[in-house]
Amino acid sequence: MTQRAYYTSDELTLNTHVVRCTPTEDGRFRVDLAETLFHPQGGGQLADQGTIAGIRVEEVLNIEGDVAHVVGQPVPVGSVEIAISPEVRALHARLHSAGHLIACVGQNLGWLPSKGHHWPGESRVVFERQVGCEPLTAEGIEAGVNALIERDLPRELIDQDGVRSVRFGTLPMHGCGGTHVTSTGLVGPIKVLKLKEKKGLLSVHYDVAR
Ligand SMILES: [Zn+2]
Repeated sequence: MTQRAYYTSDELTLNTHVVRCTPTEDGRFRVDLAETLFHPQGGGQLADQGTIAGIRVEEVLNIEGDVAHVVGQPVPVGSVEIAISPEVRALHARLHSAGHLIACVGQNLGWLPSKGHHWPGESRVVFERQVGCEPLTAEGIEAGVNALIERDLPRELIDQDGVRSVRFGTLPMHGCGGTHVTSTGLVGPIKVLKLKEKKGLLSVHYDVAR
């Protein structure tokens, strides 16, 4: 099983080992690493981009609980350097952390955050309406989140009974396998694009500054 170094590390390069390199049905190759910095697609976040031994990683997938790196040519088994694209990682982390901050602001008003989708261009957080919750408005969420960003709250990564969890400052903790900024100030100002409510589910669509 690949050790997920990105759970605890913000490093963008790492020396590790290729454990296996196997041809896939579509003529490409699946690389299994001893340790990886590549966040695979899943959990509401797109995969990291980058290279293994200088070869571009085309996809990173969660397959049966393990991380599969898909490349276009074989990589020899043994020692290897991997590198993550800093721009893509930074954007994904900013969007994902912004989603958590929106969840915190909604929670504070009595809403239950139930789903996050943090892909560029289609980011949203979905809340379930709870009895006694206070009204959520685009302006209110945006102001609340931007105030948390202004305070530059530090990130904490915690292993909570085997569940990797993330918290900013003393805000509520969320079980999450994603990548996050090291403090809220790095998210930069966010914009709430629209709210949509359907059958008791409220979607908050948002974006970060580019
Ligand atoms: Zn998350």
